[in-house]
Amino acid sequence: MASATGPGGGAEGILRRQSLRESAARTYARALPIVPVRARGMTIEGADGRRYLDCLSGAGTLALGHNHPVVLEAIRKVIDSGAPLHVLDLATPVKDAFTTELFANLPPALAANARVQFCGPAGTDAVEAALKLVRTATGRSGLLAFTGAYHGMTAGALAASGGARDVSVTRLPYPRDHDCPFGVGGPEGVRLSARWTESLLDDPKSGVPTPGGMIVEPLQGEGGVIPAPDAWLRRMREITAARGIPLIADEVQTGVGRTGAFWGVDHAGVVPDVMVLSKAIGGSLPLAVIVYRAELDVWEPGAHAGTFRGNQLAMAAGTATLAHVRQNGLAARAAEVGDRMLAALRGLAADHPCIGDVRGRGLMLGVELVDPAAPTAPAAPGAPEGLDHASDGRAGSGAGGGAPHLAAAVRQECLDRGLIVELGGRHSSVVRLLPPLTITDEQAAAVLDRLADAITAAERTRHP
Ligand code: PMP
Repeated sequence: MASATGPGGGAEGILRRQSLRESAARTYARALPIVPVRARGMTIEGADGRRYLDCLSGAGTLALGHNHPVVLEAIRKVIDSGAPLHVLDLATPVKDAFTTELFANLPPALAANARVQFCGPAGTDAVEAALKLVRTATGRSGLLAFTGAYHGMTAGALAASGGARDVSVTRLPYPRDHDCPFGVGGPEGVRLSARWTESLLDDPKSGVPTPGGMIVEPLQGEGGVIPAPDAWLRRMREITAARGIPLIADEVQTGVGRTGAFWGVDHAGVVPDVMVLSKAIGGSLPLAVIVYRAELDVWEPGAHAGTFRGNQLAMAAGTATLAHVRQNGLAARAAEVGDRMLAALRGLAADHPCIGDVRGRGLMLGVELVDPAAPTAPAAPGAPEGLDHASDGRAGSGAGGGAPHLAAAVRQECLDRGLIVELGGRHSSVVRLLPPLTITDEQAAAVLDRLADAITAAERTRHP
């Protein structure tokens, strides 16, 4: 019988059985027909012996890449110690160490007076907890959330996400230079977006009662890699603080150095009332928490329970990851490599009219593909602080110029060249790069080379 782990052995059978037995809702598995059997750092090896550079990193989870030695060591230590692996929400030395390391890395103004709630294991569980917390603390049920947002797949998180139509959620414009909702972009787009928020909150006839909270991603990931302008995020902090509305920062994807600062909110110097954390904080294993100002901690004992809130292996892996990122300055390293990759991608855009925009922060990068023949979006008069953009009037996704088929072709061409990337954005037309913070200069160069080749090949196939 063919081995699933030997070169060529078993991979096709496994993929065939997957497609026959698993849900039609499976996602990554459709575009990435890989059967991973080994992984280290940025490299994944499939059962067919092929090796890939992984720029998906478990949807932005693997801050240190796959199987980093400090993570493996931390996991082994817990197993070898004979500590219980399942403890509900009981206190343990492993959890105590995790909380200490987490608090050491929080924005100091929050850490000084914070509480942590261990939630169910996924990011979406922590989003639910955050929404419930602020609703309990304020006694108000409404929520402010943003266009293009993604917060998860459970009911409350889904309602707060951009694709939802939920009457308890008031949708506000998330500013973007490329396809600005007001058609202007730049600082004026930021001003108008903030103004609209204020006017809804202050107009007694706006139809929007004072909400229980506002939830925002400091950089929208799934929404197409859209960094919040720093000035705008500060305005959201001022507007919510002035009206007693708790501000929830969803840092599930942006946390732990990903954007070139330890937390996404650090770029703007904003201190939220609640931070939602998952993905990287579990060091590749499932873990999710919310941290929040102690004054919000008004819920009754057992008000938010759950069986799987005590994953000791994830806490140990998470402690090791947080400490390694802190001790090795990996957020600054992400900023440095990310800046260079962004500049190189901009160079690529100059040669390829199908690249409508290149943007991102740190190692959360996006290349938006467009149909060059589509109508152009209005040019932005100037970039707001901290927002990367192309203001040359290229077609954009909001204008209907997003090119999902081309983006899918680029993803496939990347895979053929041994590079794993994912797509995001409104029309799945943004190629997303989320390499580990440990990416070497050589790996970054290889990613850029393979992506450039893939874009050229995809263009050629579509426009011979
Ligand atoms: N919030 C954000 C910002 C996310 O990017 C995600 C996942 N991509 C989630 C919440 C939900 O996390 P999970 O998939 O672990 O439920």
